[in-house]
Amino acid sequence: MNYYILTLFPEMILQGLHTSIIGRAVDKGLISIEAINIRDYSKDKHNHVDDAPYGGGAGMVMQPGPVCDSYEDLCQKMGKRPRVLYMTPQGKVFNQSVAKELAMEEELVFLCGHYEGIDERALELIVTDYLSIGDYVLTGGELPAMVMIDCISRLVPGVLNNDVSAEIESFHDNLLEYPQYTRPEIYEGRQVPEVLLSGHHKNIELWRRQQSIKRTLDRRPDLLKGANLSKKDEIYLESLIKE
Ligand code: SAM
Repeated sequence: MNYYILTLFPEMILQGLHTSIIGRAVDKGLISIEAINIRDYSKDKHNHVDDAPYGGGAGMVMQPGPVCDSYEDLCQKMGKRPRVLYMTPQGKVFNQSVAKELAMEEELVFLCGHYEGIDERALELIVTDYLSIGDYVLTGGELPAMVMIDCISRLVPGVLNNDVSAEIESFHDNLLEYPQYTRPEIYEGRQVPEVLLSGHHKNIELWRRQQSIKRTLDRRPDLLKGANLSKKDEIYLESLIKE
């Protein structure tokens, strides 16, 4: 997977994404991350890339020229026109299923706005997807791009040591993950659930599945509508609801 980030703050992206699991994935060549400075495409003698909004109002708006030119230059170098994801609070809210769909691409371009955002004409010309990380407003699109890149990269084969761990985590089957425990067996008087020490794989699997359902009901009942539940799961869920 190759990521290209069009931004006014490339250092923010590069510093944030070159550590831990994602940094190692870059070192192994499983993913690549290139931050492209939109300011390099300014034709202004002071390197300005923003101006006051037509019609008045607070703040500055990023001009269309440098944004489109940075993308067109990239397309020319690549010989194709990859998907452009504009980071915006006005977009579809990013989630695990959007991440799964994006992980199928070979290249993704993330367009990060700043100030009051980007001139609408640039968006009309190059953007294919409008994506948000939630219903709140940030100062720029860099953190949203980093959030999405982190999440998508975990789904790229080989990035996680154990591919299974991405499969059974929260949001798989629209359920939250069961509680996890590690050593010591007793901490501050609290014992690890007996079943996890039993070595009985079937019982452990059943306990985890039921904990997932219970936790989702307690914390995110909205997810249960889309959950992939077996008959047995449904009977368990009904028993919880009755309790
Ligand atoms: N004036 C814009 C509006 O009301 O929709 C908000 C601009 S915001 C201050 C600056 C930039 O931050 C946006 O262009 C976008 O790239 C990014 N941004 C802010 N909040 C975001 C969110 N929740 N999700 C994704 N990007 C966001």
